Amino acid sequence: MNSSYGSGVGPQRNIRVVLRTRPTAEFAGDIIKLQPGGKSVNIHIPKDPTGEGGHINNKQENWDFRFDNVYHNVGQETLYDECAAPLVKGMFQGLNGTIMAYGQTGAGKTFTMAGATENYKHRGLIPRVISQVFKEISEKPQMAATVWVSYLEIYQEQIVDLLTTVDGAEDSTSALIVVDDKSGGASVRGLNLMIANNEEDALNYLFEGETNKSISEHQMNKVSSRSHCIFTLHIEARSRQENSEKVLYSKMNLVDLAGSERISKTQTTGTSLREAMYINKSLTFLEQVVIALADRRREHIPYRQSKLTNVLRDSLGGNCNTLVIACIWGERQHIEETVSTLRFASRMMCVTNTPTVNVQYDPMALIKKYEKEVKDLRQEL
Ligand code: ADP
Ligand code: MG
Repeated sequence: MNSSYGSGVGPQRNIRVVLRTRPTAEFAGDIIKLQPGGKSVNIHIPKDPTGEGGHINNKQENWDFRFDNVYHNVGQETLYDECAAPLVKGMFQGLNGTIMAYGQTGAGKTFTMAGATENYKHRGLIPRVISQVFKEISEKPQMAATVWVSYLEIYQEQIVDLLTTVDGAEDSTSALIVVDDKSGGASVRGLNLMIANNEEDALNYLFEGETNKSISEHQMNKVSSRSHCIFTLHIEARSRQENSEKVLYSKMNLVDLAGSERISKTQTTGTSLREAMYINKSLTFLEQVVIALADRRREHIPYRQSKLTNVLRDSLGGNCNTLVIACIWGERQHIEETVSTLRFASRMMCVTNTPTVNVQYDPMALIKKYEKEVKDLRQEL
């Protein structure tokens, strides 16, 4: 297990940022120098001999980046074990978790989060998190836990519930909006929260959500890389011991962000331009929030500027362990996007988070406890 996450209360780096490369035979190893088994990346963009501007508009030739880890040709299991498993452990200590995949379309975000269904070995982080959550619960017979699942998509600043078609779900009639919840975090009013009794239930919800995503893509004539998708697992756990008053709440957001590519010269009108503008805006706000968090003097964090930052309010710099997976497609033709992704990810490296444990006290259990104490005292007298 990785020990660089903070385990409790107090300022520490609770955002970890790792780099993952999509496997390709045309990896531009002459430009992108990865330290084998290490944490740093150097990008050297050679001068263009034609003098016409090289591969990248920006004139800088050398870039050095440092991350918590670099995963090049690394499979799903290792990525999960090293990066995600500690966050699941944290959930059972009452710490929220967020895992976000960032990068241009085609860089491997969906492969990383959801994985490839045709090969069990290629299962992504989401099904693995689900699996571990239920395994942890089964290993703690002294604990009574309830798990809920929600799945939403943010497309052009509209929140879409991806679980309205599952049995027992309600069709969202009114617009879904983000509201403040009791603990200072955020929740989405009207979003279906489905109880998952076991791993299979949760996987079915994931599958149903994926199916709905493709239906909405078809209806809206879009591709999924144009929206941000957030699958969330919520846990409430309490000890089965009689009169136990401690209730632990936590949630894990699993976020497949929209493709971060810049607006291209061909996207001058219509839906694709509008989509690109919404995406660029929301990713810029995400970055602004991250930068504001890194600057400890800043008291105001501009979470409310976009749906994405608002939904993730308690998962960015809040009560949370966060993992950012920057996905790159290391071919020469994509070098500009790669530099852009690495720059974003390296800015995320500066953020300090302060997680606190979500434990609340059940008033009825407390009353029972005090009643018992009074009874015991009376007996002693
Ligand atoms: P994105 O969601 O960022 O647009 P995808 O996850 O759809 O990108 O990946 C694009 C393609 O590359 C897919 O066919 C996917 O299966 C493949 N791919 C991406 N990352 C990996 C990986 N680590 N191992 C194997 N195949 C991958
Ligand atoms: Mg995708």
